[in-house]
Amino acid sequence: MSRVYNFAAGPSTLPYELVMRAKEEFAEYKDTGMSVMETSHRTFEFDGIIHDAEALIRQLLNISDQYEVLFLQGGGTLQFSMVPMNLRKNGIADYVNTGKWANYALEEGRKFLYAHEIASSADRGFTYIPEVTRDMIDKEADYVYVCDNNTVFGTKFHGPLDTGDVPLVADMSSSIMSEPIDVTKYGLIFATAQKNMGCAGLTVVIIRKDLIQDNEARLPKYLSYKLHADNHSMYNTPPTFSIYINKLLMEWIRDNGGLVEMKKRRDAKAALFNGYLEQSKLFSCPVPMKDRSPINIRFTTGNEERDADFVQKAKEAGFANLSAHTSTGGMRASIYNAMPMEGVQKLVEFMERYEKQ
Ligand code: PMP
Repeated sequence: MSRVYNFAAGPSTLPYELVMRAKEEFAEYKDTGMSVMETSHRTFEFDGIIHDAEALIRQLLNISDQYEVLFLQGGGTLQFSMVPMNLRKNGIADYVNTGKWANYALEEGRKFLYAHEIASSADRGFTYIPEVTRDMIDKEADYVYVCDNNTVFGTKFHGPLDTGDVPLVADMSSSIMSEPIDVTKYGLIFATAQKNMGCAGLTVVIIRKDLIQDNEARLPKYLSYKLHADNHSMYNTPPTFSIYINKLLMEWIRDNGGLVEMKKRRDAKAALFNGYLEQSKLFSCPVPMKDRSPINIRFTTGNEERDADFVQKAKEAGFANLSAHTSTGGMRASIYNAMPMEGVQKLVEFMERYEKQ
């Protein structure tokens, strides 16, 4: 078996130890005589898995009892509409448009309320985080929406926006678990799992309890946060295997020093990669350092054919999935928690050699 360094934006790399542990337990989980995939969600064993997964998420992010942690399906994409459907009160919401995933959320929001784009970075190709001040926010807004880390455009907010009493909603799909965060600054956080939360099929929603509305009569059942909260994410069959992988990954983060250590490693990997990019005469990053994501780093030679050649040669050398999203072109290295420092070091060495040639 030969594993490559996988720089995919998601589904993305998982720690090797985790993959091996899942392999060991694949055919038979504990002494149940069956795999997790074959285990009913109403069993003692699965109850232990989902309970541990939630407890670990709460422990790592320091989440109080004021918040529910929900295990849902439908990806980040379904949250783009569940958020406005469920948080709607006055029928106004303020959106910060940093492109792609923020824009999709804005478009979905418009179907359910007056979704107001209060700031955008479209004028410079979504390469920066636009400034948002308190006076730009409608005090009557049901929430302010941000995409904390834009996986496609490679930008990241520096922390929670100050939205006063208006709840802040953040899509943290590609940034969750990469640093300690103050959950109390947010009304709702969601993350599709296939990056730093495990594998595809699961979406984790962290929601302040007072924002959960009694709306089951109005919404399709599955789309009501209240229904899931009241039933501990077990109203219907949850994505059992994805929750199991989530539990293993949360254990891995805990055993590797928690979020303080994840941030330290993240910043060290980004510093190494950015340090090389800054002095390279061949590669450059279109996102200024100030707003550059330390997780999804874009780079290009400025020439489409050369970019394609680089991606191909990198692939042959064991560095997979370095092409960027089709909407930006160029390359992107997605450096999640599970990417070891060694992977980034070797990629930089490969880029240096490529540049010399
Ligand atoms: N938000 C962000 C920041 C993402 O990166 C993605 C997917 N890469 C999504 C939302 C959409 O998630 P999904 O494909 O699981 O619906």
